[in-house]
Order: sequence, then C-alpha cells, then structure tokens
Amino acid sequence: MPSPDLCIRGQHVVTPESDGPASIHVRGGRVDDIYEFDEVPDGCPLVEAGDAVVLPGLVDSHVHVNEPGRTRWEGFATATKAAAAGGVTTIVDMPLNSIPPTTTPDGLQQKIEAAKGQCRVDVGFWGGLVPGNLGLLAALYAGGVVGFKCFLIDSGVQEFPNVNEGELHAAMFELARLDAPLIVHAELPGPVEEAFASCCTGEAAGDPRRYETFLRSRPRKAEDEAVALLLRLCRETGARVHVVHLSSADSLPLLREAKASGLPFTAETCPHYLTFAAEEIPDGATEFKCCPPVRERENREQLWAALADGTIDMIVSDHSPCPPEMKRRPEGDFLKAWGGISSLQYRLPVVWTEARRRGHDLRDLARWLAREPARLAGLFGRKGAITPGRDADFCIFDPEAKTRVEAETNQHRHKLTPYEGLEFDGAVVSTYLRGEKIYDRGQFADKPTGQLLLREPPKREPTVWDDWDE
Ligand SMILES: [Zn+2]
Repeated sequence: MPSPDLCIRGQHVVTPESDGPASIHVRGGRVDDIYEFDEVPDGCPLVEAGDAVVLPGLVDSHVHVNEPGRTRWEGFATATKAAAAGGVTTIVDMPLNSIPPTTTPDGLQQKIEAAKGQCRVDVGFWGGLVPGNLGLLAALYAGGVVGFKCFLIDSGVQEFPNVNEGELHAAMFELARLDAPLIVHAELPGPVEEAFASCCTGEAAGDPRRYETFLRSRPRKAEDEAVALLLRLCRETGARVHVVHLSSADSLPLLREAKASGLPFTAETCPHYLTFAAEEIPDGATEFKCCPPVRERENREQLWAALADGTIDMIVSDHSPCPPEMKRRPEGDFLKAWGGISSLQYRLPVVWTEARRRGHDLRDLARWLAREPARLAGLFGRKGAITPGRDADFCIFDPEAKTRVEAETNQHRHKLTPYEGLEFDGAVVSTYLRGEKIYDRGQFADKPTGQLLLREPPKREPTVWDDWDE
C-alpha cells in the first residue's frame, strides 16, 4: 500500500459514521482512508487537530459573486478568500448580478474567464432560467453549470427577468428531460403587489424606516403560494425542484407533504432567518434587508423545528453583498435599500451558536452545511463528506472558541453586515483544500489553488457513497 502524503488526526473527526477519534490518510488530494487514531505511518507529515473538530470542507451552494460586471459588489478573489476563512471549500455562484448573467453559453464562458486564477476555493456555477432562453438550457448544462435558477418575482436587476407560470411550466419539462435541478426564488408577485399597495402607498402608508413596514410588504402568502405552485408543477413534470432561502414557516406543511409523497423537492434556509427576529430589528437598520424578509421570532423557531425533522434540508448563506451606499444606511429607507445580506465567511459560527442551544451537534452541521448543499449541486461524489475517494477538503473548527465579526478580519469586499460587532460560538482554525492548507488562523496560502467545478457527464458507476444516507 503506498504511503499517504499527509495524515490529519483528532479526537473529533466527523464522518458519516461517527465523530470520534480517527486518523485521516490523504493521498493525491483525496481521502485515501480513515483509520484508528494511532495509525500514522512513520515519517508521514501529520496534522494534529487535538480537541478541535475535523469537519468536511463546507459547501455553500448559494453565493452571489457578482463578477464579471459588478465586481465592485464582491468578486471571485474576495469571495473565495472569505470562504476559505469560513471553512468553506466549495461555493456555487449564482447566475445573476454579474453582467452578463449566466443565462447563455457565452455568459458562462465569461464567468469562467473571470474566475480563472483567482479562486482560493473550488467554484461551481448555476445557470439562469429567464424568459426566452429555454432553447439554451441544454447547451448551458452541457457546458458545465450544475443546474438552473429562476425567479418568480422581480429579481432586482433588469438583465435577469423573472419567469411567469407558463414559462416555468415549459421549462420544467425541459429540465426534467435534462435531469437538471431547478432552484427557485419562491415569492409570487401578486401577494407582494397587494401588500405593497396597502402598507406602503397612500394615506395609510407606513414609515419606510420601520422594519415592520418592509416586513408587511413581503407577506408569507407570497412564498406560500409560490411553493404551492412549484409543488404542483413538480408533480406534473417530474423536474427536481429546490426552494432557495425559505423564510415563511407557513410553507412548511407543503414541504412536508412533498417529502411524504417522495417528490424530488428540497428546500434551504439561511443563517439570518435562523438568528434574527423581526421584532428586534432597529429602525433604519437596512443591513438586515433581504427578500424574502427575516420574519418573527415564532417563525424562526418553526424553521429550526423543520431543520430538526428534515423538512428543510440545508443552510446556505445566500451571500448577496453590494456597495454600502446601496444599503442607504443614512436614510434608513427599507423600501429603497438593496436587499441582500453579506455572510459567506460567518455561516458556521453563526449557525453553530444557534444550533447548539437547541440541542444539535456538529454532525447535524456537517449535514446542513456540507453534505446536502453538495448533493443539491451534484457534487456529492467529490465533496460534502469525509469518506474515502472524496476530495481531502476539511474545516478544522474549535467549537469552544469565539468568532467576533469585525472589519479587520472580515474578508468580504465590503464590511457592512448585520452580524457586525456580534460574537459567535466556535472559530475556524484552518481549512484544507485537496489536502493543501489554504487558511490557518488568519493567514492564507500564497497562491489561489481553487478549481472550477464544471459538471461532467458521469464517467463511472455511482459508488455506495453517492447514495449514502442516514
Ligand atoms: Zn440569492
């Protein structure tokens, strides 16, 4: 047996089977095998994680990098540096806010050119479904996108228009044929327009500096009706559907119904919906604005219960930054501010803080923050768990240390975030990508070594690990 290039061992190695003492042997950038703690060949370089936890490298399937075209908002260099500091070894970039958007093969090519040589972690790409590009979906999928994103309501940028029900219906037959996942911003315009007219216009208009005014303008009903529509079309077309950034707890019965029927229907939520509560958001604090909105405390607890029982599959950042002036903080106008929350670097400590106080452990986090996002993006054969054959991507995490969110250590291009100044449980100690250390206690590797993960047709029979489930 050839000897490993590196061994990483610790008292808490989180694999699908356990989170006990183990020694991970790495060879050729992959996990070669997992042995007893003491099994380290003589002379093999050894990393001792000690009492820190060795998690699989985290996967964030919902990141807006915004390059090319809106690199002023973020960009591959800063986004992937923040990811590395946050224990994230794979991100999947959203198809919008960049110019051009990833809605054509040429748009994808421009993304690839823009990302090359800049990435500190691995990067995959979502394609976009917009009115008029149905005929391009097959070519985009063959070109390497991992699936497709669409909006059912105005996306906020004109070059990425939303689809209507008819367009969605037609596209879902095509996506079912391609066996490509469709991820959907699930809010319908009808209930939002109605709510906006009643709470934000005319005599009775609410104060736009108050969070409550904004919250009323994005009612749960807009999400609930969208989820109902998606469920109906999923049943009819057989397309795989995933609801991004679920906020409304009133949609949970529908998701439970979908799961119970065995439909290919999944959902994610985000750290902000699990941490903040509408009742606590100060007037004018537009850094909390996102769509759908952060809702009430009672809603937040229902989302946690849905994670616990498996109704919600994963937690991803929906990192969606913008230049600070677009948040209009001096005016504090929630209705005019850009919607989007910056959090790529902080997902792990933020979620850990809230999860541990509700009785969850780090195996739950490995599932929500690595395995399920990898599976959604079709990367589970390579990413998302510490098992033989997969990439040797690790996040070494000290669950008892603290992470303070502050500008000096925040690697995002812009530092404005609702987490600013807060302290969370746990801290990322170091991050490994394919067996190479890319981050260590505030220091980064000299060179970016991330790869672009373009989807390829399967070359081999699925292994047992591809189907592994609890
Ligand atoms: Zn998003």
